[in-house]
Amino acid sequence: MRVAFRPPLKLEFLDSKITSDAIGKGAKLVFIDTPCNPILRLTDIAAVCDIAHAAGCRVVVDNTFASPIGCSPLALGADYVMHSVTKYIGGHGDAMGGSISGRRDLIRALISEATVHYGGVMSPFNAWLIARGATTLPLRMRAHQETALAVANALENNPRIERVIYPGLDSHPQRELVKRQMRNTSAMMTFRLKGGLNINQPMADQIAKNLSMVHYAVSLGHQRSLVCWMPTASLLETSFKTDATGDARYRDWAGDGIFRLSVGLEDPEDIISDLFQAMNI
Ligand SMILES: *Cc1c(COP(=O)(O)O)cnc(C)c1O
Repeated sequence: MRVAFRPPLKLEFLDSKITSDAIGKGAKLVFIDTPCNPILRLTDIAAVCDIAHAAGCRVVVDNTFASPIGCSPLALGADYVMHSVTKYIGGHGDAMGGSISGRRDLIRALISEATVHYGGVMSPFNAWLIARGATTLPLRMRAHQETALAVANALENNPRIERVIYPGLDSHPQRELVKRQMRNTSAMMTFRLKGGLNINQPMADQIAKNLSMVHYAVSLGHQRSLVCWMPTASLLETSFKTDATGDARYRDWAGDGIFRLSVGLEDPEDIISDLFQAMNI
């Protein structure tokens, strides 16, 4: 689903001055990704829904990072919620899929277009893998959260680490919003070492070579822990179309780059010791 805002909508930092005037004329849909990939910044879903609905827009929330266990966007006022079921819902990194949920009449309107415009249909085997994975979602999310908190604490307490961003840590800049909006803080986090790009960039190669249990890979929400390096300059160039203010706000969270870590279901001590031995910290 693609949406063009003209002028771009800038609602990351909600304050009392922002009203429905912030939404460009003719906009039909406001799209929220929270906690957002990859920096784990939250958007206040209820507040954005109020503003968007006042401007006559529908709201879709990408809830992939939180999972349905962590957050219920429909209950907060969203019209649609989407998930990459490739991630936590399937849970094992072995099948790709996506889902969209919402009120029956809104979904029916999508379905009438879907077979024409939205690409291939999932194979029965993938659907079966995902449906089987989904049965353990509540148990896995409980374990993911507990393990992620242990890993985040260990990283945050290591003197070589500059910053860890995890919604379950009190150091998360939007801790109040996290508590209001999320029941489970999931297992996505970012961290970077002290010393800027000179230290972190080569560390990406070192980690990729030295990890023995954690995988150096993109994707997330698997039973396995996955880590990858995301340098800010190339990400801003290739992925996000922001202006100078948007770039600066991104850098407030990510500096020159971050390691994005998807904490799996392994023993927390094993994850921590593998990360630390790979980084030699
Ligand atoms: C992975 C991901 C997607 C895309 O899902 P695929 O299953 O890879 O097509 C969309 N949104 C978020 C937040 C994701 O992490």
